[in-house]
Amino acid sequence: MRFETAAIHSDGGPDPTTGAIVTPIYQTSTFVFEDVGKTKGYDYSRTANPTRKALADTIAALEGGKGGCPFATGMAAETTVMHLLKKGDHVISQEDLYGGTYRLFENVMRNFGLEFTFLSMNDKDEIEAAIKPNTRMIWIETISNPLLNIVDVEMVAGIAKKHDLITVADNTLPSPYLLRPIEHGIDLVVHSTTKYLNGHCDVVGGAVVAAGNELAERVGFLSNAMGTCASPFDCWLVLRGIKTLPVRMTQHCQNAAEIAGFLEKHPRVKRAFYPGLKSHPHYKIAKKQMKGYSGMVSFEIDGSTKAVKSFLRGVKIFSLAESLGGVDSLVEHPATMSHASMPGSFRKKVGITDSLIRLSIGLENVADLKEDLEQALERA
Ligand SMILES: *Cc1c(COP(=O)(O)O)cnc(C)c1O
Repeated sequence: MRFETAAIHSDGGPDPTTGAIVTPIYQTSTFVFEDVGKTKGYDYSRTANPTRKALADTIAALEGGKGGCPFATGMAAETTVMHLLKKGDHVISQEDLYGGTYRLFENVMRNFGLEFTFLSMNDKDEIEAAIKPNTRMIWIETISNPLLNIVDVEMVAGIAKKHDLITVADNTLPSPYLLRPIEHGIDLVVHSTTKYLNGHCDVVGGAVVAAGNELAERVGFLSNAMGTCASPFDCWLVLRGIKTLPVRMTQHCQNAAEIAGFLEKHPRVKRAFYPGLKSHPHYKIAKKQMKGYSGMVSFEIDGSTKAVKSFLRGVKIFSLAESLGGVDSLVEHPATMSHASMPGSFRKKVGITDSLIRLSIGLENVADLKEDLEQALERA
């Protein structure tokens, strides 16, 4: 099946008991045994649930991997993956990270004896030099957030294979429609399904897909043991969202490309960030490994924090909110919102300035979005 077909038909088909074309929400905690020691394949919803399984199979099919595992949130997925490691293990991570991931590593996992090194992930020699005897994992974001940097996924996977390290790719921003990290040699793909996979700003969720059965089983074991799984209703919402992922992504990409071009030329914009712009430092890598450049655009406004504030107050169609990847266009200020948990000095080192603004371009008419940005920039 091609991607668009798989997005609709990987859920196991009509419901076996009623023929319902849509997987029902199996809102039940437990399943009655047919006889002592005999079930119909389900016993308790933390361990397995039919609605969750339909989503698991769909995400695994779209990523081209094994044992998809839906979680309560993207952070629940990440926390579970980190429990593949143990005290004393070392992780090499991209430095330009989702703020919550940085907080999980630095403020939570460090307390359990894990060590972290943060790198740009653009330099092969720098990555190799960071590998220590206790290094176990390399963690990347396939499009980083909020600076929209792109790492060469095959290059990172190649280094990891040579040193027998687990690779994890947070593939939230491109979604599997634009990039399938497992095809490039990555071991584990992590998602916040809250974003493009669900796409409608009405659920928080996460998922993990493994390249091989062994890691898939270990993640499944941890999900059950730690209780980080997603609820049936949330799984159902994400499943519904995924059916339109290809058409949504196509339109997100088209709208974002137009907005990025508009911002790049605007006199009040110091710098626009979008991997589809030829001026983007990683445009060539992006073009090589992705089918499109996704719907996120960041820019630095030419002005002080006062200008940032009046811009954020001035937009009318864009909503001032965290999150991304939904039908609604959103705007946010990384330094005080999504990346506030990163120390100021680290933000500065990574390049997240106080004048940086991040846009999630939704599915409204792009002319309306441009007019909205234009009038807010004029006022800023
Ligand atoms: C939102 C996000 C997360 C965290 O997911 P939640 O669903 O909010 O817990 C992780 N990584 C990236 C890239 C994200 O955008």
